[in-house]
Amino acid sequence: MINNNNVLIIGAGLCGSLLALRLAQRGYKVDVYESRPDLRKVDISAGRSINLALSDRGLKALRLCGMEEKAREICIPMFGRLMHDRAGNTFASNYSGRENEYINSISRGDLNAILLDEAEQHENVTIHFNSGCKKVAIENKIAYFKNYETNEQFKVKADVIFGTDGAGSSLRKSYVSERKFLFSYSQNYLNHGYKELEIPADKNGNHQISKQHLHIWPRGDFMLIALPNRDGSFTVTLFLSYDEGEYNFNYLTSEENIIAFFEKEFPDALALIPNIKEEFANNPTGPLGTIKCSPWSYQDKTLLMGDAAHAIVPFYGQGMNASFEDVFVFDEILNHFEDSQETINWEMVFKTYHKARKKDTDAIADLAIDNFYEMRDHVANPLFKEKRQLEMNLEKTFPNQYSSKYSLVTFNEHIGYKEAMDKGRAQDKALLNLIADDEVHTHLEITQKELKVILEKVLQETNEILKEDKIAGL
Ligand code: FAD
Repeated sequence: MINNNNVLIIGAGLCGSLLALRLAQRGYKVDVYESRPDLRKVDISAGRSINLALSDRGLKALRLCGMEEKAREICIPMFGRLMHDRAGNTFASNYSGRENEYINSISRGDLNAILLDEAEQHENVTIHFNSGCKKVAIENKIAYFKNYETNEQFKVKADVIFGTDGAGSSLRKSYVSERKFLFSYSQNYLNHGYKELEIPADKNGNHQISKQHLHIWPRGDFMLIALPNRDGSFTVTLFLSYDEGEYNFNYLTSEENIIAFFEKEFPDALALIPNIKEEFANNPTGPLGTIKCSPWSYQDKTLLMGDAAHAIVPFYGQGMNASFEDVFVFDEILNHFEDSQETINWEMVFKTYHKARKKDTDAIADLAIDNFYEMRDHVANPLFKEKRQLEMNLEKTFPNQYSSKYSLVTFNEHIGYKEAMDKGRAQDKALLNLIADDEVHTHLEITQKELKVILEKVLQETNEILKEDKIAGL
């Protein structure tokens, strides 16, 4: 098939730049319009999450585009969580009992930059920076822009338009305002927002706490996390309610209150954040929300992808991974349609993609909310710790027979999020029931034979729960 389609992509963030690269590799002529300046030339990180956890689903999509190795070069592997209590004691919990399963801390800016570099290697890709999309006339496939350097307004017509312009998508807003079709849309904010702080490198440029872990200070109603950067620093994120509870962002407006809060709740972290007063005052507080909408496409003309279609809260570390996986799934569908037709039927491609993908992005949105409660609260709970310990043992001893919910979601790139969620939730229920009923024990000297019995009980009970859920139509 000859590709003579002119593709317009709105937004050169993580999803847009990977999509541009993949479509260019497939031979499309791609123009990408990005509202911000070129992040390779201007530092625009302020206010955006600086580092992210990259895991198998994201890596799978990067591999498809030949970018896995380049991404791995700028990653720091994190093998588990390291929990910090108020007294400064720590305990570790691996992400998996299998040694080759870990997540990676990566700089958003550096990752975006290598994708832009690679996309620009293709002569059929042009990236236009400082060009913010104001609206899209979806019927005519015309996008309207403003150039933020010259203030010039201009419009671009394309054969097909992709909106990868993030949670505040201009294309999605045009779906709502143009009222051309039945477009369902929901946006739910958590009462919590986030603020980023920094643990700098020590004077030798080294990390001051373990760089092999994602650090968590779980405190019930709020929490602090920290991910390592390659320059020896950590990006620390406080997740806290805007206005509820004893401590909240509205309360933390004076230096005294901020310091008193950290001294009481996170004394070991406070000792490592020298510029807390300035950073707390100057760094923005960002909202956290879930966006679901449907359908993502309009006829054969436009499609939403990435956060523009399905923004989620960050607690499973999967927003970027899901957005990258979008590109992977879309590519598989293109394979099918490009092979079977002379000219591409975009309407069928979009519909097929939506049908294949929507259930999975809905699932990860729900899982991410579940993990909000798990990370800030349950990780310090003795029953949860017992369950995690048992899961680690099961994964280590029976690597081909058992995967925890976390592993199913994070490391099993060959099953969708929905399947991972259904199986993972049933397994969790089975395990917790068995522990609560004293049917399984997690004592240290557990023998392989005893573990085998536990595995069989868990698998059997999981299957029964899955069957019951199916009957109940859940
Ligand atoms: P974005 O990254 O938002 O990119 C959108 C792009 O479009 C931007 O470059 C923007 O400037 C541009 N744009 C916006 N509007 C316009 C317009 N009108 N015209 C032109 N261009 C426009 N995900 C993970 O997988 N792991 C994590 O650990 C993780 N941690 C996170 C932590 C926090 C605090 C937050 C908030 C998110 C986190 N995420 C994480 C989620 C991840 O950041 C997003 O899912 C991911 O950035 C989505 O990529 P995207 O390209 O769809 O959107």
